[in-house]
Amino acid sequence: TFTALMLEDVDGKPRAGFREITKADLPDHDVLIEVAYSSLNYKDGLSVSGKGRIARRLPMIAGIDIAGTVVESRSPAWKVGDKVVANGWGMSETEWGAYTRFQRLKPEWLIRLPDAFSMQQAMAIGTAGYTAALCVDALEAWGSIQPGKGEVLVTGAAGGVGSTAVSLLSSKGYTVVASTGRTETHDYLRSLGATSFLDRAELAAEVKPLQKERWSGAVDSVGSTTLANALAQTVYGGAVAACGLAGGHNLPGTVMPHILRSVALIGVDSVFAPLARRQKAWQTLAEHLDRAKLSTMTEVHKMSELPELANRIVAGQVRGRIVIEIA
Ligand code: NAP
Repeated sequence: TFTALMLEDVDGKPRAGFREITKADLPDHDVLIEVAYSSLNYKDGLSVSGKGRIARRLPMIAGIDIAGTVVESRSPAWKVGDKVVANGWGMSETEWGAYTRFQRLKPEWLIRLPDAFSMQQAMAIGTAGYTAALCVDALEAWGSIQPGKGEVLVTGAAGGVGSTAVSLLSSKGYTVVASTGRTETHDYLRSLGATSFLDRAELAAEVKPLQKERWSGAVDSVGSTTLANALAQTVYGGAVAACGLAGGHNLPGTVMPHILRSVALIGVDSVFAPLARRQKAWQTLAEHLDRAKLSTMTEVHKMSELPELANRIVAGQVRGRIVIEIA
């Protein structure tokens, strides 16, 4: 037997607890992985703490990020000993996920661990970091941002998506303005490459449809008035890549930035992102993410600490990224 963090139905609500399970309990997918590391994302916090309904069936093994080694394979694409990474694909929603010593996954969910990273580094990046890279790739593909030209805003900057976005953009030569609600993280964010700061309360304020043009682009993991204000402050032809809802899922803005300034709102999903886009994002990270900065923004914790850590991330108290040691 081995230990898994399992969500079970207790009086109609999902509740997380540690359970001993066997390989026979796992789903019948083609590739068996021995999980070495996972991570803690905001979504994992919601599911493990029970504060958000992420699991759409129970029992469910939570955890949306996996780094591990193939130990059995019925797929020609993967062989025993291959080191792999999986992010998303409905894990912790409809598919059993990462917080378990072994897991069976579909072959098409796996990507090869990039040579550039150890498994621990890949999970220090995790879904949050890979999503930050999807956002940066999306802004660059749109063509609105260029290193050395204009400021790029990152909201929720001290969180996982935010920290990776700040670090990646700064390493690529962009001028990064970090929006955070925690002034105590300014030194940390400066060390990742932020050049100036904006109090998150300013972006959370009431939204005026068109404001002073400031951002050539933005990476937003907060949503709500923060996203609406970011759009209203983006320069003519600029773009905002939106991936999160840490501040709310509504969007209380107007069409004015879009129809008068050609500002683009680019939606970014990581869960079902096609393979080519995933590989591009991991390549962006391999080429540009500073390893020393990655280490600065990462804490490593044990699986037994997950319930407590889940409450911390949902309360906005986690800085950067948390790696979970499984093996
Ligand atoms: P995280 O580490 O908890 O970071 C979220 C950050 O948002 C916090 O650190 C905080 O930054 C800020 N924040 C929290 N509560 C807020 C509030 N009420 N108002 C304004 N700002 C607030 O979480 P994460 O893992 O980076 O994920 C961030 C968001 O992106 C989540 O909503 C997550 O679901 C989403 N996400 C989506 C995808 C996708 O596929 N679309 C992928 C990954 C993540 P400061 O302390 O610096 O203010």
